[in-house]
Amino acid sequence: MAQLGNEEACRAYMEQMRWGGKPVCPHCGHSRPYRLKDGKNFRCSAKTCKKDFSVTVGTVFENSKVKLSTWLAALFLLTGHKKGISSHQLARDLGVTQKTGWFILHRLRHIMGDPDPQPLSGVVEVDETYVGGSIPKMSRKRRKKWQEAGHDNKVPVMGLIERDGRAKLTIIGKNTFKDVVRENVDNSASVMTDTHIGYVGLSQEYQSHQSVNHSQGEYRRGEVHTNTIEGFFSLFKRTIFGTYHAISPKHLHRYCAESSYRFNFRKVTDADRFTFTLTNLQGRIKYKDLTRG
Ligand SMILES: [Zn+2]
Repeated sequence: MAQLGNEEACRAYMEQMRWGGKPVCPHCGHSRPYRLKDGKNFRCSAKTCKKDFSVTVGTVFENSKVKLSTWLAALFLLTGHKKGISSHQLARDLGVTQKTGWFILHRLRHIMGDPDPQPLSGVVEVDETYVGGSIPKMSRKRRKKWQEAGHDNKVPVMGLIERDGRAKLTIIGKNTFKDVVRENVDNSASVMTDTHIGYVGLSQEYQSHQSVNHSQGEYRRGEVHTNTIEGFFSLFKRTIFGTYHAISPKHLHRYCAESSYRFNFRKVTDADRFTFTLTNLQGRIKYKDLTRG
């Protein structure tokens, strides 16, 4: 953070990250733009283009009133905190309003996804959980009607995790359990679940499918268990309730992405995680290159 204390330093850092010191016109791909006198913008020297651009073009930082140094500090704080950071805390740390803090966090969560998702493989534990969101602001009368209509505001979330590997959290929505498994797990995997009826039949599509019967008090049968995913769920819920208190279902997918991201990068240094997320703007470094080995 000390290296990124002012706007010039931040721009130089971004230029290095994005272009390796050799700017390229994002409009036409021409490789010899020149820097304008303001020091911030470039102008393309291709006769047919001549467009101006800066290093933030096409990124979440483009056209933002928030200073680049604030964005980068926020990204560093968000990627560095094990349990995430609330918009209130971020606002205090950076000297911005809570509203701005909230906006910054959501924009940054947007780039925390895996740009190159690969299906999970090996031994994969799968489980489902329900996350209660906050009830939207409405009059007491309307809320009663809303709840009577069957909205309990709990959102089913599926967690899928490779033992000692990557994790994914995804909202089940209108999909069946099996659809979510199919979408995220390679057929060569050995799948472990509980005995929920929604998973029945997976053995025909996967290397193997075994389940533990929680309702019968069974939590482990040799190597057959779902303890890893349950551990991840409890971390996820501590993050939501501890850091974010109540979250609305509308934004839940972003928190799912953030939690998966944080888990998948648990063995990477803060600086590498920060750099990866920033280059994710351009997709230059592949996620699997960083997490391999
Ligand atoms: Zn150009």
